[in-house]
Amino acid sequence: MPNKVIFVLLDGLCQQTARECMGSLGAQLERGSGVFCRVQSELPSLSRPLYECLLTGANPLTSGVICNSVVRRSTQESIFDLASAQGRITAASAYHWVSELYNHAPYDPVTDRIINDKSAAIQHAVFYQWDDYPDEAVFFDAEMLRRRYDPDFLLIHPMNIDDIGHKYGSDSAQYRNVVRRDDIYLSYYLDAWLQAGYQVIVTADHGMNHDGTHGGTLPIEREVPLVLLGSAFTELKGQALQIKQTEICGLCCELLGLSHHKALPQGVYHGND
Ligand SMILES: [Zn+2]
Repeated sequence: MPNKVIFVLLDGLCQQTARECMGSLGAQLERGSGVFCRVQSELPSLSRPLYECLLTGANPLTSGVICNSVVRRSTQESIFDLASAQGRITAASAYHWVSELYNHAPYDPVTDRIINDKSAAIQHAVFYQWDDYPDEAVFFDAEMLRRRYDPDFLLIHPMNIDDIGHKYGSDSAQYRNVVRRDDIYLSYYLDAWLQAGYQVIVTADHGMNHDGTHGGTLPIEREVPLVLLGSAFTELKGQALQIKQTEICGLCCELLGLSHHKALPQGVYHGND
């Protein structure tokens, strides 16, 4: 039975900050709604290469999207490509680099920002190009897309954690507080989504160091959270799962019931089991 998936990609969120500052997520985990996994990002720990990794399963050296200045459509098959080709509805409330990877590059805000196009990989979308576009608005845009278009796969991708991390570093009250705020925005909808039967994945592309950057190999730059919530994951409560960042795409494809050739994590969810 195919699931619907909501994929929340909190840009630049360190694993430890997620664990310590996100009480709404913690409440779901304490209730037994799913599992908190530790994931190490692929390298380099940069945004565009890791959007591509999360959404196609290809690491940066494989995809060729090796830094943020590679501006072109992805050459890999993304979750959006597979889902839309197999008759599913796709949607995204996301930073404009996601539009460039899967819809159209280079991004033109006049034509590419608001999308309703059944022939596109991302069929329904509100994109933004401002790093300080409020995360709360990103969630509002996403919930509008969910209610209006009933997508099978919805990407929600706020940017303020990364933006504040660059300004103040990850060992700052400002960074921790923006994470706490995003946890509240998530709480507006999270329980309703779970009650409605969605599988919800919350993760990050990379972390953030104390210098206000990322891209290197420090644990604080590479260690990101992966929270799996929903009926597919309730039996995994408390387990220490080993999941690679390159396997998250396959997990999404499996949840969506898509035909695919992506790598899968062991012991998490196989739709054909
Ligand atoms: Zn960044």
